[in-house]
Amino acid sequence: MGIDNIWVFAQAADGAPTTGTLELLTKARSLGGTVSAFIAGDGTGAAGALGDHGAAKVYATGDLGGALPGVAIAAAMQAVIDGGDSPDLIMFPQSYEGRDVMARLSVKLDRTVLTNSTSVTVEGDTVTVQTPIFGGSKLVNSAFTGERPYLAAFRPKSFVAEAAAGAAGEIVAAPVPDLGSTGGATVTAVHVEETSGPKLDEAAIVVAGGRGLGEADKYSMIESLAKALKGAPGASRAIVDAGWVPYSYQVGQTGKVVKPTVYIAAGISGATQHMVGMKGSKNIIAINKDKEAPIFGVADLGIVGDVHKVLPQLIAALAARG
Ligand code: FAD
Repeated sequence: MGIDNIWVFAQAADGAPTTGTLELLTKARSLGGTVSAFIAGDGTGAAGALGDHGAAKVYATGDLGGALPGVAIAAAMQAVIDGGDSPDLIMFPQSYEGRDVMARLSVKLDRTVLTNSTSVTVEGDTVTVQTPIFGGSKLVNSAFTGERPYLAAFRPKSFVAEAAAGAAGEIVAAPVPDLGSTGGATVTAVHVEETSGPKLDEAAIVVAGGRGLGEADKYSMIESLAKALKGAPGASRAIVDAGWVPYSYQVGQTGKVVKPTVYIAAGISGATQHMVGMKGSKNIIAINKDKEAPIFGVADLGIVGDVHKVLPQLIAALAARG
């Protein structure tokens, strides 16, 4: 039987597929067989990039008409499956919407889901996903059994997105069927958080601050350094919980997973829950006044010092370089 037909649930921002979507398509392509993307909307703005990353076909729901995306997309997926194009595996990003669609589809199709995975392998007919647990100190391999499609969600940055210069994906209409009473919930407003500079989970340089900054006002040093380096500011959960910065800044187990070229951790102790979100960074620079702080265990460059002295000097040195 093998794996002949894989779908990827595609997400887009301003019409363009998200990096997470392109990561999943790249992985799906490497597993062999036909790869299709499934996207909300008309898919026209995304079909080129989706095709470049391996999607031969792009199932597009058309306008969701204000319906809750999870409800509408899961119903549209089920309609295509019932219509005869049933995939072996559907890969979802471990995002809010990805999990919502996947959970609803799981109930509709009565299929198991495996979530929070970071890799997938196919050997013969066996599809196995790998999931880190206990802050990444243990890896669990789980093989799907039972009827297909298998539904699996993957953490961001589990795979590297690479274009393969394919043709644009062929758009195939996958209209949302009548949702019955589940269509009663509608989206009344969408708030897009304003950001300047690169996105935290896509930036090549991340400068993150923690409780060692001492007080909320001092977070401006993190923002200044991030700006000077054309990077993105991030944070530990301690200062998100304290209300210094919004949740969207949080790096870690319950925040974002980042893998930048350079990660600067300033006044962050290096709790396991923080480190699972950043230890995959290529170069880690830690600034902490406690030389025993766990963050130094993963740092490539450690500065034992006071953030209030080190950060202003770094900012001034960068400013002097123009
Ligand atoms: P602290 O642990 O208080 O560390 C502050 C550090 O600053 C210390 O090392 C100190 O030496 C240093 N310092 C103090 N003053 C200075 C100074 N003047 N100059 C230089 N250094 C200084 N945390 C996350 O970050 N992300 C998550 O996603 C996350 N998820 C969690 C999920 C669960 C279920 C749980 C239980 C916890 C989670 N946490 C998460 C919280 C985590 O356990 C830590 O509490 C948190 O990361 C600590 O943040 P911090 O390093 O800023 O603060």
